[in-house]
Amino acid sequence: MRKIKVCLDAGHIGPTYNQSPVVKSYYESAMAWALHLKLKAALEKRGFEVNTTRAAIDAPMEVYARGAAAKGCDVFLSLHSNACGTESVDYPVVYRAYDNKEGADALALKLAQKIGQLMGTRQAGRTATRKNSAGGEYYGVLRGARAVGVPVYLLLEHSFHTNAAAAKWLSIDANLAKLAEAEADLLAAHFGAAPQPVTRTLIMGRAQATAQQMALYCRSKNAAPQLSGCTLEMLAQTFLEEGEAEGVRGDVAFAQSLHETGYFKFGGIVQPQQNNFAGIGALNGGPEGQAATFPSMFIGVRAQIQHLKAYASTEPLAKPCVDPRFSLVARGCAPYVEWLGAADNPEGKGWAVPGGGYGESVLKMLRGVLAQSVPQEAQPAPAVPDWQRAGLETLAAAGVINSPDYWSDRLSQNITAGELFGILGNLVTGTLA
Ligand SMILES: [Zn+2]
Repeated sequence: MRKIKVCLDAGHIGPTYNQSPVVKSYYESAMAWALHLKLKAALEKRGFEVNTTRAAIDAPMEVYARGAAAKGCDVFLSLHSNACGTESVDYPVVYRAYDNKEGADALALKLAQKIGQLMGTRQAGRTATRKNSAGGEYYGVLRGARAVGVPVYLLLEHSFHTNAAAAKWLSIDANLAKLAEAEADLLAAHFGAAPQPVTRTLIMGRAQATAQQMALYCRSKNAAPQLSGCTLEMLAQTFLEEGEAEGVRGDVAFAQSLHETGYFKFGGIVQPQQNNFAGIGALNGGPEGQAATFPSMFIGVRAQIQHLKAYASTEPLAKPCVDPRFSLVARGCAPYVEWLGAADNPEGKGWAVPGGGYGESVLKMLRGVLAQSVPQEAQPAPAVPDWQRAGLETLAAAGVINSPDYWSDRLSQNITAGELFGILGNLVTGTLA
């Protein structure tokens, strides 16, 4: 079954846009950002394919362009909280297509009522439409979504942040999680999306790949990796050993390095001599000097393993810390490879920022490594006991065996009845085989 595609839009730019006049710590933009990440995860859990309009909370994007970014999607949702001059006004409203395209009102009403129920608003949830003077959609995001042919597009106002109770309720993270689950449930029921088991890849654990697979896969993509002072095989083995010491999957870390360095071609901010295989400290567009330099390949790998452990676990390090940025990580915020990109992590944090798709890029490398076949080495011939070899020499010296080199190569092979009788016959008659 085809996946239903959803585009989610966090209503406003930046962390502090549209402050509540009655709950000063509340900002509409921050709530919408947090909610859209939770809704993304909740929808993905239910089998939807989800993309978001913006990769970071402060990434600017015009409203019309955000709606148009939903091109090819089945549904577009822009998330907000409302504002007005009267504190007592407290109801959710979901704006839908002015012409009720695709019968969107039914879904919009369910969403509005459910939001009202969860929030305990004073007035019931409702739907609305709004046209501009030209007769099109009033809201730019909805105008953009309509223009690119998105069938269902909605703008959800999670009641009014000019109401204290609503703004306080929306300030609680656990409440946003409830909203996300409930909204995802309604969308799943509406679109009949099939729930799918979510597969996630733990960063902590035993490596599944061998050093040989890791090295061979890399070399199949880049015949001349830019390493300083070590071979690819040594590097791969070091990833496995350092990983095992900290309980981190060394093959995951190696896959991350393949992605970060382009199969050790480097060529970005980090130079091969820095022994920094995952761009620790290197910011996109930042000056060269910001990327960490490690004194050896071993320490570089160890730092990367430790940095991954910082994200993946709350356990202490087994070895002394060599990762200069270890203490900057919110420990345990990304236990899965899939969550290493902040945009893909419901916690909103990660190794890569914004990093949408970062985890998947690493996993693609890991899948390549794990699928790498290793050529079997030729089996060494089984050892032949000395008494058998001595027997051949005796027979050759006595003239019973005339071609000892031939038989010497066959010492561990089967002999035919004919060969056996021939040799035994020679032994009796004294002629040569
Ligand atoms: Zn808004």
